[in-house]
Amino acid sequence: MKEASASLIFWTRAGQGQSMAEVQLDNVTKIYPSSVRAVAECNLTIPDGQCTVLIGPSGCGKTTMLRMIAGLESPTSGTIRIGDRVVNDVPPRDRNVAMVFQDSTLYPHISVEKNLRFPLERRRDTRWWHGLLPGSSRERRRDETAAIDEKVRNAAAQVAITECMRRFPRELSGGERQRVGLGRAIVREPDVLLLDEPLSNLDAHLRLAMRTELQSLHHRIGTTVVHVTHDQEEAMALGDVLVVMKDGWIHQIGTPDEIYRHPADRFVASFIGAPQMNMIQGSVQSGRFHADSGAVLSAPSQAADGPAVLGIRPESIELTTGNGEKAIIEGIERFGDRMDVHIKTLQTRMTARCEASPLRVGDVCTIRIADQSLHLFDVDAKGRRIGV
Ligand code: ATP
Repeated sequence: MKEASASLIFWTRAGQGQSMAEVQLDNVTKIYPSSVRAVAECNLTIPDGQCTVLIGPSGCGKTTMLRMIAGLESPTSGTIRIGDRVVNDVPPRDRNVAMVFQDSTLYPHISVEKNLRFPLERRRDTRWWHGLLPGSSRERRRDETAAIDEKVRNAAAQVAITECMRRFPRELSGGERQRVGLGRAIVREPDVLLLDEPLSNLDAHLRLAMRTELQSLHHRIGTTVVHVTHDQEEAMALGDVLVVMKDGWIHQIGTPDEIYRHPADRFVASFIGAPQMNMIQGSVQSGRFHADSGAVLSAPSQAADGPAVLGIRPESIELTTGNGEKAIIEGIERFGDRMDVHIKTLQTRMTARCEASPLRVGDVCTIRIADQSLHLFDVDAKGRRIGV
């Protein structure tokens, strides 16, 4: 998050009714004057009406991408379209997008209701007042006020702050303030709602509650949403589509399920999923995976011979008793009904996620790994997925 996000919302021109708001980035690159390449050759279609989440580690270019869609940064090269319009040269206020930033600064000296009204009041067509257009300015003003009243009421209801309208921002809880921020973003019916880590300043409990609220809000308003986060749980929970980025590059675009089940490369496999996927160096020989440590495991079917990295999700490792490969338990983290168990097995260290049980550090158990849940990756720096 950069200093420019100090203001809560960047307002753009009001929607004259909802339009088709697919966002398309073609070969978009952003190089800052400092020579930092924040976004590299990005090709991305953000589907109309869906929630697309940009996810990746700090500095991977998520905010820059969002700011380019908003018009707060210009791409160094490439084309950005909103709907059927190329917007590269369209100023932010004419793009019909609204942006909510991480640090939700509301105007402290005016009530919640006035905070909501503010972007609409700013947009009033003052030409009527100055007699520059035909018709009665008083009637026109009355109609506009009634329309604003209704939009404010609707937005307040959507984000459940109707009860707080007369209060000042300092009289609100963190979650209520965040809801007012969202209300102020949707009151203008933007074609695209851009959310830059909107939950990251909230405590863990509130973040979970707001996550659910965001989801149902999106369900109700159906606006195209682009949500930036570095929290993979938030991304999985909210995204219809995830865009996983690193160092300015898009590594994978897909549904949360696709990305979880078929990560495109080692980075995506490690970044999405907690605890991280276990990675074992070795090679495939005649359909078996020979770990560098000497252990031999199953390999995903149709894997060609050659060096590879085998990926195993922690929840794919079952800890049992009986015959089979032995594992010694080196550590246990308990989370109520489940636990993460750090084991040494097959001459390597792995983590298994399983249901809570009385197992203890030092115990020896048997591991079982489901063949169909194995992932194989290239050993080179790109680490692309091998096979399906
Ligand atoms: P975070 O999650 O930490 O907010 P991010 O993924 O949103 O990070 P960006 O803020 O887009 O990443 O930054 C991408 C890269 O561009 C980083 O290396 C950052 O230092 C750099 N950067 C961002 N804004 C500017 C700027 N105005 N001038 C120069 N470099 C910048």
